[in-house]
Amino acid sequence: MSYSRLDKLKDRAKKTLKRTLDSHITLAVTGLSGSGKTAFITALVHQLSEQASEQNMPFFRVVREGRHIATQPVPQKALNIPTFAYRQAMAALNQQPPAWPESTQRINTLRLAMRYRPKQGLRAQFGDSATLTIDLIDYPGEWLMDLPMLNMDYPTWCERQLTMLNKAARSEHAQDFMTALHEFDANAEVDEVRLKELSELYKKALVNIKAHAHAANLQPGRMLIPGELEGAPLLSFFPCHAPKQGEQHTQYQQLEARFEAYKAQVVKPFYKDYFCHFDRQVVLVDLLRALKLGPDIFDEQAEAITELLSFFDYGKSNVLRRLFSPNIDKLLFIANKADQVGANYHQDLALLLHDIVKEKANSLTFSGVEVDTMAMAAVCATQGKQVVEKGQSLHCVYGKPLHESQWLTYLPPQPPRHRLTAQQWPQQGFDYIDFAPWPHSDGRLRHMRMDHALEFLLGDKLT
Ligand code: GDP
Repeated sequence: MSYSRLDKLKDRAKKTLKRTLDSHITLAVTGLSGSGKTAFITALVHQLSEQASEQNMPFFRVVREGRHIATQPVPQKALNIPTFAYRQAMAALNQQPPAWPESTQRINTLRLAMRYRPKQGLRAQFGDSATLTIDLIDYPGEWLMDLPMLNMDYPTWCERQLTMLNKAARSEHAQDFMTALHEFDANAEVDEVRLKELSELYKKALVNIKAHAHAANLQPGRMLIPGELEGAPLLSFFPCHAPKQGEQHTQYQQLEARFEAYKAQVVKPFYKDYFCHFDRQVVLVDLLRALKLGPDIFDEQAEAITELLSFFDYGKSNVLRRLFSPNIDKLLFIANKADQVGANYHQDLALLLHDIVKEKANSLTFSGVEVDTMAMAAVCATQGKQVVEKGQSLHCVYGKPLHESQWLTYLPPQPPRHRLTAQQWPQQGFDYIDFAPWPHSDGRLRHMRMDHALEFLLGDKLT
């Protein structure tokens, strides 16, 4: 009798200890809109929960060593964040004909529980299985671009934004706003209707600049992807010229107050409530699209990536460091959609991404953040095809171009291995093709190097 009580006690102690040995990680995924966040998270969940075999994920050690037991989505803890729509995303990819799932328009989360067999240390001694809880967070990269606003007052911000709007490739998309601004009286009594009208025009200018000039660094980010702030008065502000000294500038003061409110009520809470709780961060970059769009836009996107990197460099006198204390210890930059080029060019893509981030990455590594870059495809939409022409073997891709009905065998151009100057840019440019998802009759998605990414992001938590 007493023996079985002792057994029970032991059992309970073991369970408690085991619970404390279970671990948790918050893995955030970001990138500018269209970079592939939704497809990436969908593929990650699918590969782990439905296809975690040694053949499919040979570079993810826990799987290769046969220690992965099972992974599945479980109810999330953060009840204030919408749930990532995994089932809908899979349904879109599995429908006939398959479609890409809807893109990220807000912050989303999904919690995964991964059961595995630990191989060393306390975990291995106290049980034959342990659980790693993974909170995936998907958020628009456009929101990160707001961070520098915290370092600026309203007059400085206005000066920068107006200079940005006047730049060559952008001014034509901001004309309606600039004309209205010309007639705007910053000294007049507050006129809500007028302020709203101009805010709408400013928002339209940003949306057009993003769509046509593909600019990446636009503020405020919530005007582009408002999330839950759609239509909120907090977004009713815009840059305007500072009035002369001694003038009343009532409208100006109102705009300044709204700018400060946006910083305090939107930008800061995002960092404090979310960003600071991320352990690891994935940044997806659509390098092929940037190459396709030409040298100016490529440079613009490259600048945006380096700026983004500096937000993670909180080891120095970074604004983040002073305001918050973030936790991120691993940062993975991914040149995504690598299935749009043959496997022989993946190394070129990875090198190009490395060339863009290397300087800032060195400084981050010095601050204790592990940074890596790689090329991968979350959801393969093509198949590699070798075509022999005039005795030469060509690495083509075969797939169905997006919005077209004919299937195509295509020889994509080789991506450069480093940033090109405008003079070095090839005359014919870089013509890459967007493909529709591959039809999978068995409901199994294919990936390229998702296992490498997972090993970097989670491997050390699964020993
Ligand atoms: P988000 O806006 O960052 O959430 O981006 P999405 O995940 O919605 O992806 C945007 C588009 O990129 C999709 O509609 C696809 O056309 C394409 N895409 C995303 N991931 C892949 C991939 O792994 N391979 C290919 N070929 N295309 C992809």
